[in-house]
Amino acid sequence: MKQNYKFPDSYFTFPSHVTLEHLRDVSKQVADIQTPAYIIDEAVLEENLRILKKVKDETGCKVLLALKAFSLRASFPLISKYLDGACASGVFEARLGREDFKKEVHTFSPAFSDKDIKDVIKYSDTVIFNSFNQLRTYGKMVKKAGKQVGLRINPMLSKSPKLLYSPCVAKSRLGVIAEQFKGEDLSLVDGFHFHALCEQDADSLEEVLKKFEADFAKYLPNLKWVNIGGGHHVTRKDYKLGLLIRLIKNLKSKYKIQVIMEPGEGVVLNAGYFATTVLDIIQNKGNVAIVDASAETHTPDVLGMPYQPCIIDAAKGVEKKNVYRIGGPSCLAGDTFGDYSFDAPIKPGQKLLFTDMALYTFVKNTTFNGIPLPNIGILDKKGKYKVVKKFGYNDFKNKL
Ligand SMILES: *Cc1c(COP(=O)(O)O)cnc(C)c1O
Repeated sequence: MKQNYKFPDSYFTFPSHVTLEHLRDVSKQVADIQTPAYIIDEAVLEENLRILKKVKDETGCKVLLALKAFSLRASFPLISKYLDGACASGVFEARLGREDFKKEVHTFSPAFSDKDIKDVIKYSDTVIFNSFNQLRTYGKMVKKAGKQVGLRINPMLSKSPKLLYSPCVAKSRLGVIAEQFKGEDLSLVDGFHFHALCEQDADSLEEVLKKFEADFAKYLPNLKWVNIGGGHHVTRKDYKLGLLIRLIKNLKSKYKIQVIMEPGEGVVLNAGYFATTVLDIIQNKGNVAIVDASAETHTPDVLGMPYQPCIIDAAKGVEKKNVYRIGGPSCLAGDTFGDYSFDAPIKPGQKLLFTDMALYTFVKNTTFNGIPLPNIGILDKKGKYKVVKKFGYNDFKNKL
């Protein structure tokens, strides 16, 4: 991929390994595919993995893939070549990590149940508890199985774009706060875990680490590792990689401790597209394009976060001459991706390619309204597209 291609920021905020030329090539390579389809771009994914590998190589930290953001098995062989393992949010992801990712599995849940804990321990290398009560209840079982025990702490300082994503507020469910440590027994605990970032640069990590050290440094000499969670946008344009590396090295050498990080978004950032076809164009005090893809069912974070995804060769908003509100086929009145504008009018049959659609899309999609689930395909480094998952009527019928 060629470097340093200039393009207007209102279209894209991609890192240098995703050029406009590359995106135009991708558009051509998938011009005839069946839509709707999520497409994984292995060239971008591998470049992301190289950046994460550099962090590993320079700091000696471990990097885990957060399965909740991206759990496409067909991509595991590539990802597991570069990363150390996977982090799971419960028994199913732990099992997927063990059986299909096939490297280390670290599992955290706000609370484990009697029903699940045996399997969680079986499939995990590390089990991370969310309270002293759960640690007392299940910690010894984990140790007996020869696995490691973690405790999620809450630094009560979060850097997150939205309150919905902040674990560091009063009545948060996530992590033990410093004042709860009085009189508690830490003898079973191998490491601390925190997760307080969301789509953040390394200077946010620096702030959270300061607070973490102020409250929890006294416990670190007895621990083997600190897991600094996810939310590190390591592969984003202009991410302060040097600062991240310095922070991890410093934490490691100051406390003689292993550092683990578990990005989700950061692994697959910009490494996917969502291909859709325009079905119809209607007018209601402006142009409305209906496509064969739904924000509500296929990209729920567009409405939930909310955010507006980019479309290749379109501008977000009204900057260009031909403006359309683009929406999907569900019954939800607000099922739209937003307003976009184009140099030329768009027509039924035309393909539109949304960018940055690998993360938190197909892990969250639904068949609400009976809308079919899109194909999932992989575009390899030679530009060859192959469908790896197809869904049909039975997937809708058998779910309920
Ligand atoms: C969500 C989550 C991650 C991954 O977060 P990203 O923002 O996708 O990097 C990692 N660890 C935990 C505990 C999480 O809840």
